[in-house]
Amino acid sequence: MKRLFPYFLLLKPYWFAFLIALICGVIYGVSSGFGLPYMIDQVFPKIFPAEKLDVQLSTWELLMYISWFPLVFIIRGTSSYFNSYFINYCGIRVLEKIRFQVFEKLQRLPISFFHRNQEGDLLSRMISDTGQLQAAILQVSNDLIKQPITFIGAITALIVMAVQREGMAFVLLCLLVIPICVFPIRRIGELLLNKALNMQEKAGNLTSILSENLSAYKEVRAFNLESREKERFENVSENFIDARMKVIKYSHMLTPLIEIITAVGISAAIFQASRKSIQLDAVVPVIVALYMSYEPVKKLGGIHTSIKQALASLDRLEEILETDESISSPPEPIEIKKIRGELEFNNVSYSYSNRKEELNEIPALIDINLKISSGEVVALVGPSGGGKSTLAGLLPRFYDPDKGSVLLDGVNLRDLFLHDVRDAVALVPQKPFLFDLDVKKNIELGQSKYTHATINEVCQLAYADEFVNEFEQGYQERLGEKGSRLSGGQLQRLALARAFFKNSPLLILDEATSALDTENEDKIHEAMAQLIKGKTTLLIAHRFSSLKLASRILVMDKGRIIADGPHDEVYRNCDLYRTLYDQQNEGLT
Ligand code: ADP
Repeated sequence: MKRLFPYFLLLKPYWFAFLIALICGVIYGVSSGFGLPYMIDQVFPKIFPAEKLDVQLSTWELLMYISWFPLVFIIRGTSSYFNSYFINYCGIRVLEKIRFQVFEKLQRLPISFFHRNQEGDLLSRMISDTGQLQAAILQVSNDLIKQPITFIGAITALIVMAVQREGMAFVLLCLLVIPICVFPIRRIGELLLNKALNMQEKAGNLTSILSENLSAYKEVRAFNLESREKERFENVSENFIDARMKVIKYSHMLTPLIEIITAVGISAAIFQASRKSIQLDAVVPVIVALYMSYEPVKKLGGIHTSIKQALASLDRLEEILETDESISSPPEPIEIKKIRGELEFNNVSYSYSNRKEELNEIPALIDINLKISSGEVVALVGPSGGGKSTLAGLLPRFYDPDKGSVLLDGVNLRDLFLHDVRDAVALVPQKPFLFDLDVKKNIELGQSKYTHATINEVCQLAYADEFVNEFEQGYQERLGEKGSRLSGGQLQRLALARAFFKNSPLLILDEATSALDTENEDKIHEAMAQLIKGKTTLLIAHRFSSLKLASRILVMDKGRIIADGPHDEVYRNCDLYRTLYDQQNEGLT
């Protein structure tokens, strides 16, 4: 319960609904635990007197006594309904807040977090774990107030009856079976925590495989991977079912166990009552009160097991909530009034793995020293894995250097407001991502404090207007998930339009590796030439035809800069560059 306390604080805005639920829960508990047996105790002897009375009850009197039954059930039923309604409302609200907290956290976590965690597993945490939590919150909230009050009410009724009647004290002894119930409750709870954690992990694996498979639908067909995928899915699905059955095995064990233990208690009461020749009308209310005190124990045991299952899911959500936000704004960020766009990398090293066993892995960047002046266009060239994307990724602070620093206009990026840094960098990635929105909204996502052109203007600059105008709904045309309705060249042009719209002083152009038709390629080059004007640009060049846009070439290999200068000079002095350049030229001729 202590672990859950911070989450109870989330109830604060819903205190009124919680209060009503609490009051209704108390009314339900008192009417069930105390009211029911007490009413039976009072009414039964009047309706079925032990000795034959001279005067029979009149119909009206009989009706009056009988009406106590529906009355108690009306009070019990109504309070139960309102208790459930309001407590579920509170539970759902709290769950929504937790889900939102996790989602909000996911927006702030560094890129490295997404490298470490699979998309499917994160999806599973957001959907399946919060769902598990929801089921538990609803079950727990239904019984949390009602059952303890019912228990107290029933015990009070038992004590009142035991005191009022001679020879009834033995019923109190029957309550001794209750502590026995604590053992299975605790043991099963412990077992369930582990089993539930295991089940949620397996659910994560299942979602991971599924999301990977759905993203790779083309590859699955192209490489005939259908049966391999089926087998993989079957295996994880089987593991999930095993884990789930273990949870079912233990979670359903508790109720029958407690029922058996309490049945022994009730039998003992009947045995004693018969021994002491107590009349039936005196025994019935006692048995009802005894049942009313055992029932909450059973329900509270159920709550315990649900809480254990919920804790397993909460653990997995808290893992996200507690992840270090290593990349964030400093407490007192420096503000650069007008960014000129001068960059400086001082002794920068970066390694993707910070785990000990991988320390001997070659870092992605090693001792990079580099100055780029304002408005300079620098092409990054080199074999795949050389460190080009990693170097560019340091600018929007996707990563922070392990050693050394990156300065913008002489200020360390870490000392700036993170939002300002990201506003100052426009990125045109290799595979642009378009949201399932219309064209206009997709470009508007590029809005920054540097934006000054209109959507139409930027689309013209990026040569996107020609194909957008051909859409039936023009700029209002929806693009479909991930922009799947567009060709590679169109996607690139929209990404360029977004960068034109953002108009940031720093630009990263990560050229698409896939070949484009000549018309698209020419237009994209012309658009790029417009876009880089006046902006400090890092161009990750995959096609050497783009190199003419750059005034300076940086050749990167194995995390180091091995050549730096204008094309002619680098071509003359750097063997690697010469080989790569000549190979591409040969390919073209
Ligand atoms: P390039 O852009 O020149 O192809 P990268 O910057 O992508 O090179 O990669 C540099 C090195 O970092 C490579 O050795 C690559 O394997 C490694 N690397 C890149 N991304 C990751 C990642 N997410 N996790 C681990 N290693 C990575």
